Amino acid sequence: MSNVASTLPTGSHACQCPKVRHQTKRIVLTGGPGGGKTAVLEMARRYFCQHVAIAPESASIVFGGGFPRSGSPQGLRAAQRAIFHVQDALETVALESRQSAVILCDRGTLDGLAYWPGSRESFFKEFNTSLEQELSRYAAVVHVEVPALAWGYEKNSIRNESVAQARAIDERIAQAWRSHPRVLTVKAQAGFLDKLASAIELLREEIPPCCRNHLRSARP
Ligand SMILES: [Zn+2]
Ligand SMILES: [Zn+2]
Repeated sequence: MSNVASTLPTGSHACQCPKVRHQTKRIVLTGGPGGGKTAVLEMARRYFCQHVAIAPESASIVFGGGFPRSGSPQGLRAAQRAIFHVQDALETVALESRQSAVILCDRGTLDGLAYWPGSRESFFKEFNTSLEQELSRYAAVVHVEVPALAWGYEKNSIRNESVAQARAIDERIAQAWRSHPRVLTVKAQAGFLDKLASAIELLREEIPPCCRNHLRSARP
């Protein structure tokens, strides 16, 4: 598994898949800050073919775009409303291109539960949805866990959580998704590259066979 990093067909996205249309499925990549999610996405971008689309993180778009960070319950709810709707819209746009086999979502709608200042019931009521409905959006959830120690995987100026907070958020994210039938967890491992390789390996299993051939040939 650890040889994935060294066998990357860097910059090569082209696959010979003859399909014009795929049955598109959405996969969530989630995890607390600093766990390595961003690095996994970066690798996925380079490793997988053009039929794997990446939906960017809505919270980064919202906060990176200047949405105010407020600690008050009203402020937190307002931010989560914005993030939820941006997430929903990002997925809609990604689904429009029917060529994608997989839409890899940098977090999903239920991540909002980890930040919601109220009951789960009030979250679903707010968005006029249900747990089942939100779970059914996604074929699988890949959770990249935050390690016990701060390894400094990610330097993101948009983030301001401390390690303890990051772990707490990671736990809440795990809670938010735990009733999904396919939660694939990438445990904190001895080496960062092993962790990346495990994540890519898990994601690779989610790519339909028609789009996997070029990956096989990329291996020694
Ligand atoms: Zn492909
Ligand atoms: Zn294909």
